[in-house]
Amino acid sequence: MTFDSNALPEVRGKLMKNAPLAPYTWFRVGGAADVLFLPADEGDLGDFLAALPQEVPVTVLGVGSNTIVRDGGVEGVVIRLMGKYWGGIEIEDGDVHARSGALDLSVARAAAKAGVSGLSFLSGIPGSLGGAVRTNAGCYGRELSDVLVSVEGIARCGGGVSIPVSEIEFSYRHTDFPADVVVTSMTLRGDAGGDPETLAAEIAAHQARRAETQPIKEKTGGSTFANPDPPGTPDQRSSWKLIEAAGCRGLRVGGAQVSEKHCNFLINIGDATAADIEALGELVRARVLEHSGVDLRWEIRRIGRLQAP
Ligand SMILES: Cc1cc2nc3c(=O)[nH]c(=O)nc-3n(C[C@H](O)[C@H](O)[C@H](O)COP(=O)(O)OP(=O)(O)OC[C@H]3O[C@@H](n4cnc5c(N)ncnc54)[C@H](O)[C@@H]3O)c2cc1C
Repeated sequence: MTFDSNALPEVRGKLMKNAPLAPYTWFRVGGAADVLFLPADEGDLGDFLAALPQEVPVTVLGVGSNTIVRDGGVEGVVIRLMGKYWGGIEIEDGDVHARSGALDLSVARAAAKAGVSGLSFLSGIPGSLGGAVRTNAGCYGRELSDVLVSVEGIARCGGGVSIPVSEIEFSYRHTDFPADVVVTSMTLRGDAGGDPETLAAEIAAHQARRAETQPIKEKTGGSTFANPDPPGTPDQRSSWKLIEAAGCRGLRVGGAQVSEKHCNFLINIGDATAADIEALGELVRARVLEHSGVDLRWEIRRIGRLQAP
């Protein structure tokens, strides 16, 4: 569908038409959003969504560390919660109240500084809290659902919602979180009384381990495919081993390559298009299916149009 981007509701934040999204994603590829909206606060977001015709599609982008924006860009309005306001973090005993634009690493560091333990695993996830809730992000044996206490958001109609965590179904790197809700803030629970120095050392150790085993300095989207079996499954099959066994390490399509360092990561080696990256992912899936019979599931979100209208 097309919509009249000249007739958009008034906002206090920023509205940009035909806004390139590549700079907002880790892969640095993809086309433009018909409209990019950076709301000033919850009120601004709610008023905008209430006034925006309900048929206009709305897509939320965190920091794009788990997303491929396709080359044709994204139809409708893309919302991004960025800036100082959306990165707010407050700590009260063991509870961390944070807005969705806060980086997981910043939350881990703030919790450590306040002596709140149990949240250091967040330092291994290079996304925003909004993205972490949506994807049930996790590492080092913990995931968001282990620490999430409450979630607030704004629904597509513009109304505020508070979603009881007990009503969200969490599974491995997946939630059934309502697709039309923009998560705006949440509370995570750790344990008060931890030692800040010990927690800071824990974070430093997580980061060193990452740098050693993952191409974190590359343009990438993290693990491309979910492991076929969730953690804890006896003889768990992991995607990288299946990809390795299928001979895909270093495989290339255009400017996209399977990382030599960690073969469940695809990287943009400089001039990739989103189509290159997606085609490479599909080639890997086909080779793994042929080699081991396993049909890998994309963990990375792919959004938007293949070609501009
Ligand atoms: C080097 C590297 C390492 C990684 N390691 C890990 C890891 O160990 N564990 C792990 O789980 N992930 C990992 N990832 C993937 C990624 O960091 C996580 O999935 C992260 O939670 C995504 O957050 P984001 O803000 O980048 O979300 P995006 O990629 O921008 O979006 C992901 C999804 O979340 C939704 N979303 C984002 N913000 C909101 C919001 N406010 N409200 C509603 N929906 C929202 C989007 O619509 C989309 O569906 C890694 C990625 C990279 C690049």
